[in-house]
Amino acid sequence: NRRIVLASRPQGEPVANNFRLETVNKPVPAEGEVLLRAVYLSLDPYMRGRMNDSKSYAEPVAIDDVMVGAAVSQVEVSNHPDYKVGEWILSFGGWQDYLVSNGEGLMKLGDNPSNPSYALGIMGMPGFTAYMGLLDIGAPKAGETIVVAAATGPVGATVGQIGKLKGCRVVGIAGGAEKCRYAKEVLGFDECINHKAADFAQQLAKHCGNGIDVYFENVGGKVFDAVLPLLNTGARVPLCGLISQYNVTSLPDGPDRLSLLMGTLLVKRIKMQGFIIFDDYGDRYPEFANDMGQWLAQGKIQYREQIVDGLENMTSAFIGLLKGENFGKVVIKVNNP
Ligand code: NDP
Repeated sequence: NRRIVLASRPQGEPVANNFRLETVNKPVPAEGEVLLRAVYLSLDPYMRGRMNDSKSYAEPVAIDDVMVGAAVSQVEVSNHPDYKVGEWILSFGGWQDYLVSNGEGLMKLGDNPSNPSYALGIMGMPGFTAYMGLLDIGAPKAGETIVVAAATGPVGATVGQIGKLKGCRVVGIAGGAEKCRYAKEVLGFDECINHKAADFAQQLAKHCGNGIDVYFENVGGKVFDAVLPLLNTGARVPLCGLISQYNVTSLPDGPDRLSLLMGTLLVKRIKMQGFIIFDDYGDRYPEFANDMGQWLAQGKIQYREQIVDGLENMTSAFIGLLKGENFGKVVIKVNNP
């Protein structure tokens, strides 16, 4: 059983030495337990937060413990009446080959799912996050302008495409010309702006001529600074993530802009609401799965994965994800089905 543990806590950007790849004995399931063998492991930005020893909505990973995360596995041994060998399972198994479970927290994906890894992305946590954050908090109306950054990632790409299905004008923000082209040509966004361009804020203003009604916040930082003056009266801001801040170690330089933010929220009566997907919306998963399943089957939603081969490449893929080196949902293929 190969596994990646947290070796030390990062100061700022994670580095390879913060992780350790180990080989330990394969666990043996007792009566009433199953042995799961991972095929696909998920990489997600929230994992950076779990490396810190600070209070958050979830417990930090302890030093020498296996890094946490979702896994799509197959049952290799079953001593549990509800599970049979070969069945596909979504678990929270972490960065490792094998997991023993008594069935708690497992989700069955069937005997022969057509895209098992989708359970980590478009049909799973990121897709669900996009759906609930946009529709429940963003409450978009046809004709309104939605802006979303990390526009080609699993959350952002889904937000924008659902926005189009609801009749909105969608402006994406992404890191680089290739990602922007993809957002427009494949995902169907009306515009996509490169946040690395020197005139990014001006371009955003130019392409949001009627202001912004829904800003789906994935990144924070400079992108938010450019968005704030463009928000319309009554705008909604689902506060989903702040990836540009996950590696920072101190407050930014420059003048304090808190009063500018508060003043804008007040005068424009803006609703900004944070959410943690499963804590806040766990009971609404079936509604999402039903809609998204149909949209995918009808070809109304496009979904891009970046499959990385090998557990040994998981650490570098994670460091890259936080820097925007990924293009689409990062999935680590650790074993053959
Ligand atoms: P992504 O693959 O979209 O996240 C990585 C992307 O973030 C990068 O590819 C990069 O895209 C962008 N990025 C990184 N650094 C910066 C920066 N400094 N400025 C601007 N963009 C940056 O991941 P997900 O779709 O999985 O997640 C998107 C967001 O949603 C994250 O913030 C995540 O934490 C959050 N989230 C929140 C949940 C919740 O329950 N609240 C649940 C799931 C996700 P680019 O190259 O285009 O800039």
